[in-house]
Amino acid sequence: MSNDTQQETTFEVRPTSHPRTREQRAAALIELGFGTVFSDHMAHATWTTDQGWHDRRIEAYGPLSLDPAAAVLHYAQEIFEGLKAYRHEDGTVWAFRPEANAARFAQSARRLALPELSEADFLDSIRQLVRTDMEWVPNAPGSSLYLRPYMFASEAFLGVRAARRVEYLVIASPSGPYFTSGFTPVSIWVAEEYHRAGPGGTGAAKCGGNYAASLLPQQQAYEHGCQQVCFLDAATNTYLEELGGMNMFIVTADGAVHTPALTGTILEGVTRQSILQLVTDAGHDVHERAITLEEVKAGVASGEITEIFACGTAAVITPIGVLKGTGFDLTVGDGAAGTVTNELYGLLTDLQYGRHDDTYGWMTRLV
Ligand SMILES: *Cc1c(COP(=O)(O)O)cnc(C)c1O
Repeated sequence: MSNDTQQETTFEVRPTSHPRTREQRAAALIELGFGTVFSDHMAHATWTTDQGWHDRRIEAYGPLSLDPAAAVLHYAQEIFEGLKAYRHEDGTVWAFRPEANAARFAQSARRLALPELSEADFLDSIRQLVRTDMEWVPNAPGSSLYLRPYMFASEAFLGVRAARRVEYLVIASPSGPYFTSGFTPVSIWVAEEYHRAGPGGTGAAKCGGNYAASLLPQQQAYEHGCQQVCFLDAATNTYLEELGGMNMFIVTADGAVHTPALTGTILEGVTRQSILQLVTDAGHDVHERAITLEEVKAGVASGEITEIFACGTAAVITPIGVLKGTGFDLTVGDGAAGTVTNELYGLLTDLQYGRHDDTYGWMTRLV
């Protein structure tokens, strides 16, 4: 059917010999958490300096066989993405701005000296995987099939240089809402002792190493009774950057919306980008600028700052009810989700689940 060129760029479906039964799948889709259940297949391609990207396939989900010397295990040459497949009322399945994830994946690859994957390959891997495992896309409210594309150095070599063999995979996890408590405000711990990224580092790339650096401060947040940690800039310890895996916004009493400007140490979220577009079009004044912790503390205390929220694909929007740090413990507004936060959550999820016209052309049909 397809000519050679097409075959070269298509993920060939090699169905698993042991798919789970309808009953097993139904049981796995009850009471979904986040990232604990995985579908029957995964996308996989391999890159070598000699052959480039090859062996694109959809294969049985299962353990990888990895040489103990694989470079990723030693030097963390790894990047990832996160996006969701949403089931609409009519049964069709859609992704939200997947080209933006493809573009960011290529940028992250460049920073980590990994080979770039084309947008066509990125989109095809997702489309073929979701088509193969479409029964794994849940339809309970707020649920989705979370897609995790990632790439890592698989070459068995302990010398320090960019690997000459690399794997690309996509795994899929049927998921419920990210935070078990649902759309309820969380408490944030402001880390002043540790940073997730520094100038010239990898903060703007989506790489596992950034997350490794965020885990200890995240533990400290828990110890202080907070669910998430907010990082400040490493250079001056003055400016708000973002949470370990989400961007941040503040809303002031005049209705203006503010978010830290991208400085090279902040990860540019697709959700952040989309919110900036939505609030601009809704007529809010929008400010991408440097925001100091002192200003936020004073603004929350005086009531000048009425809402703070975090955003990212996994949780969409998370209201922040409490801001805590060494020597302060502040409740934002009345501690509940504010008007702008609620509005944006509604707008984004209505688009994603097809309850609102896709006026921006942000949705891509997968099945
Ligand atoms: C993925 C990520 C985000 C959110 O990005 P989205 O594209 O909106 O999901 C924010 N910060 C960090 C550090 C991230 O890794």
